[in-house]
Amino acid sequence: QFPLGRRLPCDIYWHGVSFRDNDIFSGQVNKFPGMTEMVRKITLSRAVRTMQDLFPLEYNFYPRSWILPEEFPLFVDEVRMMKDSDPSWKPTFIVKPDGGCQGDGIYLIKDPSDIRLTGSSQSRPAVVQEYICKPLLVDKLKFDIRLYVLLKSLEPLEIYIAKDGLSRFCTEPYQEPTLKNLHQVFMHLTNYSLNIHSGNFIHSDNANTGSKRTFSSILCRLSSRGADVKKLWSDIISLVIKTIIALTPELKVYYQSDIPAGKPGPTCFQILGFDILLMKNLKPMLLEVNANPSMRIEHEQELSPGVFENVPSPVDEEVKVAVIRDTLRLVDPQKKKR
Ligand code: ADP
Repeated sequence: QFPLGRRLPCDIYWHGVSFRDNDIFSGQVNKFPGMTEMVRKITLSRAVRTMQDLFPLEYNFYPRSWILPEEFPLFVDEVRMMKDSDPSWKPTFIVKPDGGCQGDGIYLIKDPSDIRLTGSSQSRPAVVQEYICKPLLVDKLKFDIRLYVLLKSLEPLEIYIAKDGLSRFCTEPYQEPTLKNLHQVFMHLTNYSLNIHSGNFIHSDNANTGSKRTFSSILCRLSSRGADVKKLWSDIISLVIKTIIALTPELKVYYQSDIPAGKPGPTCFQILGFDILLMKNLKPMLLEVNANPSMRIEHEQELSPGVFENVPSPVDEEVKVAVIRDTLRLVDPQKKKR
C-alpha cells in the first residue's frame, strides 16, 4: 500500500475507487478510465437506449427508462399513449437519482404526476423506469443477483463472468405494488444496506438460507423445481456481453484520451458488479452496473446496544475470494510473459 504515493513501477496497480493516476507508464491497472462515469444510471440508460433503438429485441433486458428532468414531458406523453392503447395497463414506475447507490432516494410511483419535481430533487437528475412487478420469488421474497464480471480487455474484448454470485433478499413478503404498499422498501428494494435495518434480516452462516445467499444455491433450488438453468445462464451471459458492448464505444474514447496509443501507458482491467433481477418467467433484467463493487467479506454485528464488531460473512467470503483470486490469476503478469 502506498497511501502517500508510489515510487517504483508495479506489475499490478489496485486502485480503490477509480482511474485517477496520470503517472503510470506500464503494468496493469484495475480500473478503466471513464468506467465510473459510464455506469452511472443516466449514462448507462442512454447507452442501452441507443442500442435498444437499433436492436429492440436484442436489448429488451433493460426496463424502459426516461431521463429526468429533461425527458419528463416525453415520459408523460409516452405513458399516456401506452395507457390509451391498452387501458388494462396499470404500470408502476421507479424513480432513481443519478449517482445514487444503496437505494438512496429511490421511490415508486403509479402515475407520472407523482414525480417529485419540486424542491431539491428537481435539480437532482434521475432515471424513471418501468417497475418490474412480477419478479421471481423465493420463500415469498423478492431478491436480486449480484454477479461479478471481469472486463479483462477492451480491445480485443475479453469478458469473464464469475460462476457464482450473491442473491440479496428483501425482508418482507412480496406483494405486487399497490398505492398502499408502494412505500414499503423492505418489500420492494433488495438493497442489503436497507434490509439490514429490518428486524427480519437474517445473517447467513451458510450459502442457502438467510437474507444473503449464493446465486448457485438459488440455481440448485430452481433446477430441483425443473427450471431450465442452462438457458438462464446463457441469457445472463448475453445480457452481460450486450451491456458491455453498449458501453464500449465511449469507453474506447475515454481510453484513447487517457492512454493514447503509441505512448507508454498501462493496460486496464476491471471487476464490475452486475445487478440483475429475475422475472417470474426467469427472464433476467439488468438493474444496474457497479464500477466499484464492495469486496467486503465481513459484516457488522451489534454485540450490545451501540457496540459493533466486524464478523466474517461466510457467504461473501465464498463468492468474493474466488472472484479476486481468479482475477489475479487471469491478469498474472508472469503468465503473460510466459
Ligand atoms: P441503487 O444503486 O440505489 O441500489 P438500483 O438501480 O440497484 O439502485 O435499485 C435499487 C433496488 O430497487 C434494486 O436492488 C431492486 O431491488 C429495485 N429495483 C430497481 N429497479 C427496479 C425495476 N425496474 N423493477 C423492479 N425493481 C427494481
